[in-house]
Amino acid sequence: MTEKKGRVFSGARPTGRQHLGNYLGAIQNYVALQKEYDCVYCIVDIHALTTVETTRNLKGNTMEMALDWLAAGIDPKDSIMFVQSHVPQVMELHTMLSMVTPWGKLIELPTFKEKIKQQPKNINYGLVGYPVLMSADILLYKTDVVPVGVDQAPHIEFARETVRSFNYRYQTDVLIEPQMKITRIPKVIGTDGKQKMSKSLNNHIELASTPEETQKRVMTMKTDPQRLRRNDPGDPDVCNVYSLHKIFSGEEEVAMINSECRSAGIGCVDCKKRLAANMNVSLAGFRERRAEFARHENDVWDILHDGAARARTIAEQTMVEVRQAIGLP
Ligand code: ADP
Repeated sequence: MTEKKGRVFSGARPTGRQHLGNYLGAIQNYVALQKEYDCVYCIVDIHALTTVETTRNLKGNTMEMALDWLAAGIDPKDSIMFVQSHVPQVMELHTMLSMVTPWGKLIELPTFKEKIKQQPKNINYGLVGYPVLMSADILLYKTDVVPVGVDQAPHIEFARETVRSFNYRYQTDVLIEPQMKITRIPKVIGTDGKQKMSKSLNNHIELASTPEETQKRVMTMKTDPQRLRRNDPGDPDVCNVYSLHKIFSGEEEVAMINSECRSAGIGCVDCKKRLAANMNVSLAGFRERRAEFARHENDVWDILHDGAARARTIAEQTMVEVRQAIGLP
């Protein structure tokens, strides 16, 4: 086996069945990173408790997400895949880190400010401490690299500062500063043609949908708003259907659609039918693998429990060092 470059950590809240945005923006990258790094992928169920909607059906949503991750190609023999709450050491480290975290810094983070606007009636303590728990997730596994989109960059910088504060306060070097790997996350637009694809906006296309459901969703997609009639020429550059063709269709077909849309040679209905067909071909293997995993849910829980056991070994070692560094009796 070739030498890996270090350890990667990434987590996502259990939001149930994943959509194309999750796949193209995150999961695909998780799969690719396995070649170069030792990867630790975590379904962060404790983080989900900060908002009321994501607290519902945690067990079911965890399973749905695990099925998608496995079917997409996360290899549990190679990577560690587990559920956050199965490694309680993360809560302990979170408390230790909170003692070196200035309150003022937490409430200034842009993501916190955004959250209090989104849920003014539920500004809970966990919401403020979210970046501390995220730091604990990362630092517990002595992570070298965290792949993130630019919006998460302040959190990684925060984790790095926390390492410096902790190591300075206790005159130690047990925690290591993670590097961030800014991944250019393509922003996948939803079926409304306007906003980021998201389950809460109901503008998403689930990876695990049936071919019929996929076609139905695709047929509802908004196209170039200027193209009102079949004979109007369209502009593929402003059409989300065309953006997805670039991902799911072959080069020749993409070129054909580009020119035929501009000359009104192809209508939006045909264009969408082609897209749905190509998506269904692309996702067929994924869906078969997912169905196979879904037939053996107990095996999937075993994978998650085995991942947690491996994660706990690393976590407990870090915590022994952390408790010692603090000087706990
Ligand atoms: P979380 O709160 O755990 O980040 P999300 O479901 O919002 O949960 O996102 C999970 C991952 O999928 C994140 O890495 C996010 O950037 C990515 N993602 C979600 N929606 C999209 C989208 N429409 N386009 C690109 N990436 C997306």
